[in-house]
Amino acid sequence: MRTLIRDAEVAGRRVDVLLDGERIATLGEPSTIRPAARDEVIDGAGGVLMPGLHDHHLHVLAIAARSRSVDLGGDKGLAALRDADGTGWIRGTGYDEDALGSLDRYVLDAWVPDRPVRVQHRSGALWVLNSAALRIVGLDGTGGESGDVERVGGEPTGRLWRYDARLRQALPDDNRVTPEEIAAVGRRLASYGITGVTDATPELDAAAAALIDRLPQRVTLMGRTPGAPVKLHLRDHDLPSLDDLKQLISAARERDRPVAVHCVTAESLLLTLNALQEVGARPGDRIEHASVVPPGVGEWMARLGVRVITQPDFLRTRGDGYLRNVDPVDRGHLYPYAGLQAAGVPVCASSDAPYGELDPWRVIKSASTRETIEGDVVTAAERVTVGRALDGYLSPVDRPGGAARTVRGGAPADLVLLHVPLAEVLVDPRCDLVRATWIEGRLVGGMAGRS
Ligand SMILES: [Zn+2]
Repeated sequence: MRTLIRDAEVAGRRVDVLLDGERIATLGEPSTIRPAARDEVIDGAGGVLMPGLHDHHLHVLAIAARSRSVDLGGDKGLAALRDADGTGWIRGTGYDEDALGSLDRYVLDAWVPDRPVRVQHRSGALWVLNSAALRIVGLDGTGGESGDVERVGGEPTGRLWRYDARLRQALPDDNRVTPEEIAAVGRRLASYGITGVTDATPELDAAAAALIDRLPQRVTLMGRTPGAPVKLHLRDHDLPSLDDLKQLISAARERDRPVAVHCVTAESLLLTLNALQEVGARPGDRIEHASVVPPGVGEWMARLGVRVITQPDFLRTRGDGYLRNVDPVDRGHLYPYAGLQAAGVPVCASSDAPYGELDPWRVIKSASTRETIEGDVVTAAERVTVGRALDGYLSPVDRPGGAARTVRGGAPADLVLLHVPLAEVLVDPRCDLVRATWIEGRLVGGMAGRS
């Protein structure tokens, strides 16, 4: 299967690009490559052709499950649960304690006494179940396992911390993500020009991994892929000791793997850097989020050689809350980008979907504006250009924030063709500029108005 893309913009020049099987065969001056009779021929019309985007931090199963979830971020609040259609389980997402107050089984029971309900905190770190749901997953008794199952007087409160993998296994089949829902995620990713993803979920069983692998995109699972970073999800209100964290890092080293450490506070970041310094950092080590980076710490990260996977779009969607609620000491150091790069840290933006917006073009725009919904700007000095942020999505799967992949002969035919030249994208990045997406030479999305 060969495809000839005529007259596309690559690295500032108008060229023809021939795809042969899974690879780019060659690039040539316009009209110099002759198609064979069965080749697909597409007129690029001067639109930019670039390597497919890679989202370096998201959660595929949770994205898929969103389509049948009740969003608690709207005006209805918890009443949205009571008003949910259908029968059986209700899955709520986007729970924010600042907006909805403290939540436990009893609060949920008051809204929905007769159907099992599970509600996910907007960070993804906490599930809250009502009593009917606790019964079904076998957590309604007193005593037994504690720690991640919060209890008061032996009685579970319904609040389950970092319980994703265990909950997935305990839930009845009708709660599981379906292959159709995964296919829909694949189509959505392709519509954005995304050809690869790194799933940052800490633990995934074989069934979950097999489901995610059905995506047409190239998939790296922190929870399973050999060589991929091991995800360490620190609890910010209950941080491990330095020794415990060092042990977790050493355990990853024994499996010959780098680590990806979730750090959303200055304390967790400093603890992590101390642990990495003592155990010894290795290539591929990454900090997920780096939501607060105190002055001077970027230089330390650069010396250790750790990378940062940031989520600038949280500044748009949650920035107003941050500006109101975050400790004033930290306010100027939220989700830094330009400053870390200047210090020599490889940085790339990602979605953290579904906890953040999946659309990479929206994320890229936020990296360049750092504007909140209400129109405030969070530390203008940390803005990067659209091109810089786009480069992060073009960086290789094992070197996030490193040099962008390029369109060249012999490279994988993972490509995205846009309707317009790069210069226009850099002014106003938008997902509707995506015209077509190829993965391993196969057209997987777009191509409205194909010639
Ligand atoms: Zn995440």
